[in-house]
Amino acid sequence: MASTGLMMQLPLLISSILEHAERHHGQQEIVARRTEGNIQRITYSELAARTRRLANALVSAGIQPGENIATMGWNTVRHVEIYYAVSGIGAVTHTLNPRYSPQQLIYIINHAKDTTLFFDITFAPLVKAIAPHCPTVKRWVMMIDADKMPAESPVEGLINYEHFMSGASSEFVWPQLDENMACTLCYTSGTTGNPQGVLYSHRSTVLHAMGANTADALGLRRTDTILPVVPMFHVNAWGIPYGALMVGAKLVLPGAQLDGPSLYALMEEEKVNIAAGVPTIWLGLLNHVLQNGLKFSSFRRTLVGGSAMPISLIKAYDELGVHVMHGWGMTEMSPLGTVSQTSGPDLELDKAAQYDITAKQGHCLFGVDMKIVAEDGTELPWNGEATGELLVRGHWIISQYYGGDGQKAFSQDTAGRGWFATGDVSRIFPDGTMQITDRRKDVI
Ligand code: AMP
Repeated sequence: MASTGLMMQLPLLISSILEHAERHHGQQEIVARRTEGNIQRITYSELAARTRRLANALVSAGIQPGENIATMGWNTVRHVEIYYAVSGIGAVTHTLNPRYSPQQLIYIINHAKDTTLFFDITFAPLVKAIAPHCPTVKRWVMMIDADKMPAESPVEGLINYEHFMSGASSEFVWPQLDENMACTLCYTSGTTGNPQGVLYSHRSTVLHAMGANTADALGLRRTDTILPVVPMFHVNAWGIPYGALMVGAKLVLPGAQLDGPSLYALMEEEKVNIAAGVPTIWLGLLNHVLQNGLKFSSFRRTLVGGSAMPISLIKAYDELGVHVMHGWGMTEMSPLGTVSQTSGPDLELDKAAQYDITAKQGHCLFGVDMKIVAEDGTELPWNGEATGELLVRGHWIISQYYGGDGQKAFSQDTAGRGWFATGDVSRIFPDGTMQITDRRKDVI
């Protein structure tokens, strides 16, 4: 007779990550370059207290569970506070990508029916342009010190972030939400037509961050200092604002300055040993380092993804003593699906063979499964030759788009298991290594 396991069932909640960080790594720091220009230092316990104040302010403002609260911001401490406070009260952090056109942003905000929008001063002109077309937004909040508010306001009734939370208490008990509730929302234009929303759950986000922290992926530890250059407005900065707090790593945030010289200075000053970002960012940093005859004194590992990492860059970083971890995934996958990096016996191969391994997209993390299929949907062999569309399923893979768009991407196999069609064309080798070879033509 089947019996139920006799273990505790605790919901996997975003607030539980913050509670863990405060209780077990309270002295650890977040260091951030602020939009005001200076460097900010804050401990995890101070962060937790400010986040509870923000949660109280959100509740006092009448924000309800399930409500979409938008952000348009750089990687900063305030943005981290919003991530935890909004999701923590059961509302949804909707990160807007400011690289979308104003028309696309208007479409997204109206589609999501965002009620509040937190933004950095950098985006004031953009906010001014879109605000008249966003009737659902009742509150526009600028994330800046109260004495640095601009003389000319981009919207009527502009609220200052520090004022918004100034009177609120730092005592707050996080509600024990259902772990399947939504916590964050991110739109993507991966497929044709209007951008489509991906609505992550507390459970999927916690499991993704745990998966991303495993040794063959990011392998993050308490003693690491990690710099996510990947923006918090793009797939939750690959989950690093969650994963770093889970292990108690030091988190370094670059703010608005993503150029090579600024990143290099921040990395050296804060002794960053791991950084994450897209290949173009690493090209900018590399050029700065090579042109000025510099060296990295602490930088040892980088997680690169978002597009294929060229062998020339893998080699250049290896020669500077930086180990490349090459990740593949997409917004619909939270985003991490596979990671490629050399370890163990790989390190006995010659350098060219090692770079070849890293340049592929690698192995699935536990929690994600994949298969390649022919045009008619039949599964193709993992022989390193056959190529077909890559389908995925797993704990942090989308089951449908927000608002029911884009049904074509979802299918069921004969066993009744759901799959998501990525639009990427790949081959898979007998050892489980995946390599992207193309993108389906009807997908942009
Ligand atoms: P996004 O949802 O905007 O993050 O874009 C995801 C898409 O970027 C994937 O479907 C791939 O086409 C591409 N992509 C992401 N990472 C890689 C990678 N490591 N190599 C090749 N293509 C990638």
